[in-house]
Amino acid sequence: MGRMRRKGDLPTKTCATCGRPFAWRKKWADHWDEVRYCSERCRRSRPPGADTPGAGSGDTD
Ligand SMILES: [Zn+2]
Repeated sequence: MGRMRRKGDLPTKTCATCGRPFAWRKKWADHWDEVRYCSERCRRSRPPGADTPGAGSGDTD
């Protein structure tokens, strides 16, 4: 403990749409496990077949 949290320490994921890595953001703090897309644009243009059962609830961004 006591270590400074640098940008490089943030968790990252790969966007399911564009395939680019993206880093954790504060707005995703509550549902980071469910985040699959780097941006809302990618979330809306997700490729067919990548649908997530159970998703689509409470999608008010
Ligand atoms: Zn993306």
